[in-house]
Amino acid sequence: SVRNCKIMRVTLKSEVRYLILLRDITKEKEVEAMRRDFVANVSHELRTPLTSIHGYAETLAEDDLEDKETVYRFLSIIENESARMTRLINDLLDLEKLESGEASFSKEDVELGEVVNYVMRIVEPLASEKNVSINVDVDEGIFVEGDFDRLVQLLLNLVDNAVKYTFAKEHGPKEIWLRAYAQNNSAMIEVEDTGVGIPEDSLKHIFERFYRVDKARSRKMGGTGLGLAITRFIVEKHGGTISLESEYGTGTILKVKLPLKKVFE
Ligand code: ADP
Repeated sequence: SVRNCKIMRVTLKSEVRYLILLRDITKEKEVEAMRRDFVANVSHELRTPLTSIHGYAETLAEDDLEDKETVYRFLSIIENESARMTRLINDLLDLEKLESGEASFSKEDVELGEVVNYVMRIVEPLASEKNVSINVDVDEGIFVEGDFDRLVQLLLNLVDNAVKYTFAKEHGPKEIWLRAYAQNNSAMIEVEDTGVGIPEDSLKHIFERFYRVDKARSRKMGGTGLGLAITRFIVEKHGGTISLESEYGTGTILKVKLPLKKVFE
């Protein structure tokens, strides 16, 4: 696309020349379209929980609900949806901080085992509540250079997803494997699950903001659709890559490859 087309007449050493100035605004148009898309997405994402909170609150206020169980069920939906809204806003602000470059990453020597232990302390109780067992196989003394809190956030997102989408599968094993090892000059982290899996045509979209295979299921699981976008950002900020393999209905493996700092035997 072109805007501001200008034709100028210049006289150079008594020769007349014409200068045509064109401004290519293709990029600007793209950025503008992305911004509009993003605003539409965010509004929709915020409106969904609000609509449900409003609906249930209205019913509770207007109807004379005799049945205590129904009252509690409605209240718990309101509680969950408002908690999800808070998470959504926090994730949005975090993503904005990351993408604008405002978030600073420290560069410490971080042992992967420590990251895994930290994450396990948070996730283990939630997993056992959902009858999902997590097997940890982590080699000791593998160091990467980076930000401990951000690495925890990265792994927490992956393990949290593994638990959520394994729990969501009604039948079959409910197991997760968490592995860390050194390979050549890389530190590898893998999270493998026996969950619902991801259909092949969704694989390439999975790291996009707000992309979900099944919106209703993600919402029910408390998801915001931003976890993997944030995760990928953190991985890349550490000079690494993230990839996945998945079989629909069987399970998923997320693999993170980070530059290896050192290994202590
Ligand atoms: P959400 O908050 O919805 O979990 P994410 O960005 O973390 O958002 O993930 C995006 C989508 O990718 C999810 O909605 C889900 O459809 C899919 N997904 C992510 N991890 C897994 C997994 N381990 N197993 C199956 N599907 C997954």
